[in-house]
Amino acid sequence: MAEVRLVNVSKKYGHKLAINDLSFDNKEGDFFSIVGPAGAGKSTILKMVAGLEPVTSGEIYFNNTLVNELSPKERNVAMAFETYNLYSHFSVYDNIAFPLRAPGRREKLTPAEERKRVEEVADFLGIKRLLDRKPVQLSGGEKQRVCLSRAMIRRCECFLLDEPIAHLDARLKFSTQAALKRLSVKLGTAIIYVTHDYREALGMSDQMAVLRKGSFEQMGTPEEIYNHPATDFVANFVGDPPCNLIDGRIVGDNGRTSFKVDGAFSFPLGGELLEKADATVKKTGVNDIRLGIRPARVAVSKEKISDRCFPLPIYAIVRRPQSTVITFELEKSFFRASSEEALLDLEMSDQVWVDFNPEHIFFFQKTIDISK
Ligand code: ADP
Repeated sequence: MAEVRLVNVSKKYGHKLAINDLSFDNKEGDFFSIVGPAGAGKSTILKMVAGLEPVTSGEIYFNNTLVNELSPKERNVAMAFETYNLYSHFSVYDNIAFPLRAPGRREKLTPAEERKRVEEVADFLGIKRLLDRKPVQLSGGEKQRVCLSRAMIRRCECFLLDEPIAHLDARLKFSTQAALKRLSVKLGTAIIYVTHDYREALGMSDQMAVLRKGSFEQMGTPEEIYNHPATDFVANFVGDPPCNLIDGRIVGDNGRTSFKVDGAFSFPLGGELLEKADATVKKTGVNDIRLGIRPARVAVSKEKISDRCFPLPIYAIVRRPQSTVITFELEKSFFRASSEEALLDLEMSDQVWVDFNPEHIFFFQKTIDISK
């Protein structure tokens, strides 16, 4: 088992910079997720760790040993990629056992030992009954669990998992997530897990990183990423419904400072919130900044709830089984409030009072397009 460390790693495909000066450290036994949109560079990172793609610059270490020049085999990592790569003419059993039979393997197993190991792993992932089938007889979700079993069968330095459960239905997703989590604790092996689904990353990881165009926007615990997003990109990427991002101006009026959205509302700022706004204005050098607030922190009521709340008409209400999402329209964008209540007294076009919980407001420099 290894600690995996990347130091100032960059990767170019021709002239295209896919990974830009990336560093991170994945401790033994840590579940580390990399989350980001398609094309951000997630798979490229895994391929460089596995030795399938050379780095353009920088170093990769396993337990303080530089592995840049080592072949994939010498690195001894286990991989499960989204594409199945199963051998179609082999049974599920033989596919899973394949890594145990690789020529030159130090650990030679008897057939009985091999069967025990394969059955154990297949049982772990709930596919023991499929061992005699061929890949063509499996659903997408079953194939994915065969790939995972094949990755897990060997003792290895670290697991590299690229969207390993993307094709599973919701029920199987939960059981496979639980199996992966148990696996990481049971074996104490470092896991690097790549996904476009921030929910998986938040739920599974000890540490996670949000990747954007080959650079980490933020790295931290799931709690840090969710509750203290460092940028508007992170706030927007992590959350369902997404974090509200509202563009406005910091304005002074009769000794009071407010966040003003022209033609819509003005929200008074004081105490720590004012300090946060000032810090963002200072950093960006302009008064035009972006306010972030999660929909669950936006309160909506027919009554005036506080001195700072403001009136707005409801644009739309969507009632889901466990929450109600209310959308408000601004000149250039929308923002939302979500509540666990059904809010049956509210209807479309009602004029309501809206309040932001000041403790949960962020201010950002504008780095992404949020126009409707
Ligand atoms: P992700 O896994 O986040 O979707 P990738 O690592 O696959 O992202 O790709 C990152 C960027 O590098 C993308 O712009 C992609 O088009 C480019 N890329 C990936 N693999 C290659 C390759 N073999 N040759 C050229 N460009 C590539």
